[in-house]
Amino acid sequence: MRFDIITIFPKIFDSFLKEALIARAQKKKIIQINTHNLRHWVTDRHKTVDDRPYGGGAGMVMMVEPISKAVKAVKPYSRKALWFKSRVILFSPRGKLFTQKDAERLSKYDQLILICGRYEGVDERVIKYIADDEISIGDYVLFGGEVPAMVVIEAVSRLLPGAVGKQASIKDESFSHRLLEAGKFDKEYPHYTRPEILKINGKRVRVPKVLLSGNHAEIEAWRAKHRK
Ligand code: SAH
Repeated sequence: MRFDIITIFPKIFDSFLKEALIARAQKKKIIQINTHNLRHWVTDRHKTVDDRPYGGGAGMVMMVEPISKAVKAVKPYSRKALWFKSRVILFSPRGKLFTQKDAERLSKYDQLILICGRYEGVDERVIKYIADDEISIGDYVLFGGEVPAMVVIEAVSRLLPGAVGKQASIKDESFSHRLLEAGKFDKEYPHYTRPEILKINGKRVRVPKVLLSGNHAEIEAWRAKHRK
């Protein structure tokens, strides 16, 4: 899976790409992540990517042309190889709410092109003619699409074979499709680890006894009961 991020702040991704499982997945060649500075596709002296909105109003709007050029440039394979499946995603609070189901759907592509908006947002023609999906990560407004891009990259990457240490650990997780289809609850059970007993705010709190019982049937039953 290849991710191409189009942003005016590529440095935001520096440490995100170099740490933990995202770094490991790149090393293992499960994913490849490229960041692209949108200003690279702008020719004027000031490297302008935004302009005033038609009809007036506060704030600036990101222009279509630099985004269109950037998307074309980062789609090298799709023109040559028909098997290469690419999807263009624009982030916007007006978009469809991103869920685990979308992560599963997107994990089937060869390339995701992620367009990060800034300012008041992006010219509507990007949504109509360039992007395949308009995605929101929640009903709130952020400064830009960079954090949403990280959210999608994490959610999709961990579904790819080999990205998570134990494959079994992603099968029964919160929101997993498999659980929903089985008619089970959709969120994971609570976890506990050592120590068994400790003091929190002067109160002795212990791990539920059943988890220490070694009785797998009882543990399973307890876990099923405590899913949300
Ligand atoms: N004026 C817009 C908000 C723009 S925020 C409105 O009222 O809807 C600037 C950019 O941040 C957006 O273009 C988008 O790319 C990104 N963004 C902000 N909140 C987001 C969210 N909840 N989900 C996805 N992208 C978001």
